[in-house]
Amino acid sequence: MDTSITKLIYIGKQISSWNVSLRNGELKIFFKDFVNLAPEYRGPWKLVNRVLDKGFLTISPAELARLLETGVKKYVLSLIENIKVNYEQLPESFYMVIEEVSRTWSQIKSNFASIRGKIEVEKIPGLFPPCIQSLIDSLKAGKNLPHSARFALASFLLNIGYSVDEVLEVFSFSPDFREDLARYQIEHIAGLRGSRTKYSPYKCDNMRSLGLCRWQCRGIRHPLQFFFRAVRGRKPEVKEVG
Ligand code: SF4
Repeated sequence: MDTSITKLIYIGKQISSWNVSLRNGELKIFFKDFVNLAPEYRGPWKLVNRVLDKGFLTISPAELARLLETGVKKYVLSLIENIKVNYEQLPESFYMVIEEVSRTWSQIKSNFASIRGKIEVEKIPGLFPPCIQSLIDSLKAGKNLPHSARFALASFLLNIGYSVDEVLEVFSFSPDFREDLARYQIEHIAGLRGSRTKYSPYKCDNMRSLGLCRWQCRGIRHPLQFFFRAVRGRKPEVKEVG
């Protein structure tokens, strides 16, 4: 048996007591562990796209390593959450680091706040790329968006600093809006649930292949790139192509 695979299985069992083993040269994992550790819920990571045999599915060594990555992340987070600290015993140098981190974080937050001030889309049109603006317009017109469009919009807004409640507000225009469901999905995209991964919006290439882009934005490969350029006053040239 490949020693690196054996080690991965061993680590997995130690930290998450997951049910994974090598049988007849194939890596098998119990479906609940796969779902629990999947880094994302699309493509090959969706259970519906896998073959299940008596509750187990076959994974590749690379997938095993990726699942383990999520498992280790969760494990470390759980250790941090359960840690008991005696604050009186912490050295002064530790507090100095905390102060430095807090100062930097406040600066980042205030930078975001100043950008957010500019995002009054109604007042300053054009900061959002046309793909995102058209999704917002569709929602406001009372149209239901497909799943991929919802993901694109929510992940974009979260990545430019919108809070979960603010994204919910945008989605409240949707005719089939259900706050509990929408909140769950948005929190998942924001990395507050599940694998705790904050998702990035699709790249332009993906937006095109999903039918969410019919424009060419000069020099832009990612909708976030469009936004940050526009905020700096260098709005990319846009051409509708179809
Ligand atoms: S080129 Fe990119 S940023 Fe521009 S509309 Fe298409 S997906 Fe959006």
